[in-house]
Amino acid sequence: MNNDDFRQWSQRAADWGADYRNNLRERPVRPLIEPGDIFRSIEASPPEDAESMDRIFADFQEKIVPGMTHWQHPRFFAYFPANAAPVSVVAEYLVSAMAAQCMLWQTSPAATELEMRTIDWMRQALGLPEGFSGVIQDSASSATLNAVLTMRERALDWQGNKKGLAGQGRLRVYSSDQVHTSIDRAIWVSGIGEDNLVRIPVAGRFRAMDAAALDAAIVADRVAGMLPAGIIASVGGTSTGGTDDIAAVAAVAGRHGLYLHVDAAWAGSAMICPEYRHFWAGAELADSIVFNPHKWLGAQFDCSMQFIRQPEDLVRTLAIKPEFLKTHGRDGIINYSEWSVPLGRRFRALKLWFLLRAHGLENLRTMIRNHVAWSEGLAARLAGEVDFEIVTEPMLSLFSFRHKAASGADADEHNLRLVNAINDDGRIYLTQTKVDGKVAIRFQVGQFDATAGDVDAAFTAITEIARATA
Ligand SMILES: *Cc1c(COP(=O)(O)O)cnc(C)c1O
Repeated sequence: MNNDDFRQWSQRAADWGADYRNNLRERPVRPLIEPGDIFRSIEASPPEDAESMDRIFADFQEKIVPGMTHWQHPRFFAYFPANAAPVSVVAEYLVSAMAAQCMLWQTSPAATELEMRTIDWMRQALGLPEGFSGVIQDSASSATLNAVLTMRERALDWQGNKKGLAGQGRLRVYSSDQVHTSIDRAIWVSGIGEDNLVRIPVAGRFRAMDAAALDAAIVADRVAGMLPAGIIASVGGTSTGGTDDIAAVAAVAGRHGLYLHVDAAWAGSAMICPEYRHFWAGAELADSIVFNPHKWLGAQFDCSMQFIRQPEDLVRTLAIKPEFLKTHGRDGIINYSEWSVPLGRRFRALKLWFLLRAHGLENLRTMIRNHVAWSEGLAARLAGEVDFEIVTEPMLSLFSFRHKAASGADADEHNLRLVNAINDDGRIYLTQTKVDGKVAIRFQVGQFDATAGDVDAAFTAITEIARATA
């Protein structure tokens, strides 16, 4: 492809993208295909000769697009939002065109310094105090892994990387049973081992871990000669929005000198609204906090922000300095590759900078407030229907519900059938979870372009299909 073709096809792609966003409401949110359909439609061997862009593009439209689940669809109410506001897509195009590696300050000074600036913008926007610095990671899973590695090294007096874990004390990490699976994986990958992730019982409407039980577990582990390393608290758990009392957990962490990491991957975006900050009161005391601007806020994936109180500890855990990576004589600059496991880094700050400037915080706050209000409204409407029950009340914009099965029918089976029927229908897209061992249907409003009308359409689809499935 020469530069003239590059220009032409970039313009074609831009036209296609705008048309796609315009017509999304007409598409089923989840494709109606069988496993293997797409695989079989793609040539089994790679081409020996060049093909025309016309053909490649036509195949993209015919074979690929109909097999996509449309995460930017305004009636996507499943999982969590993965919003890519158009302005962040434009920024991402520019990033792709420059295709720089942003691992050291000198390999892309603007990327490093804009990252520093946007992190501080977000710190202010979320109401966090000065004294946090941070880094933009690919995903919350990576940020949490970094936090676990740091707590491990701190607890082992920085000997784990060098000596390995054999012969060391038995490390312990504490969380509730509402945390995301990325915590389990960080515990596996860090070598701490699942048996040493201590699940503290939860209580109350928001399923917060019991701080007294947390304290007692740490004391008991110390008495037994184990090595408590850190605590992972959750604000807005993925299943039903489980939220710990961060101030209470931080007090326990402080008392025992443990590292505290807060996972607010989804809910963190809502903290741009001061009235929701009570949900993470105490977060300012954490050692690190992760939140994903690539979820609710609208920065195209990937863009996960990790705020860190003592970056020296993270850098001490992860920095390797081979000779060719040294940037002699430039002390005081940040080389962000020392803040994450991969060496190569994308320029992730640009889309956040474009997003924050093009929308302004006040418009983003309005979007989030609307989503919360619409979600609460839908929960109230469903609660008013005799054949529906609310299982978990809205935590911000996430709640779960169940449809009552006909007498004698299995409630779990009925609700699983209902989720499948709703998703096959295509008007909206939902997912299920388990609450206290029983199936519940999750509903979250978070899509960037969702309107009150889309949530009304969800009420219609859910009640119609439930009654037809009963
Ligand atoms: C989505 C989510 C994650 C995982 O986020 P990735 O960026 O996909 O790794 C972790 N924790 C919570 C609470 C989440 O909602």
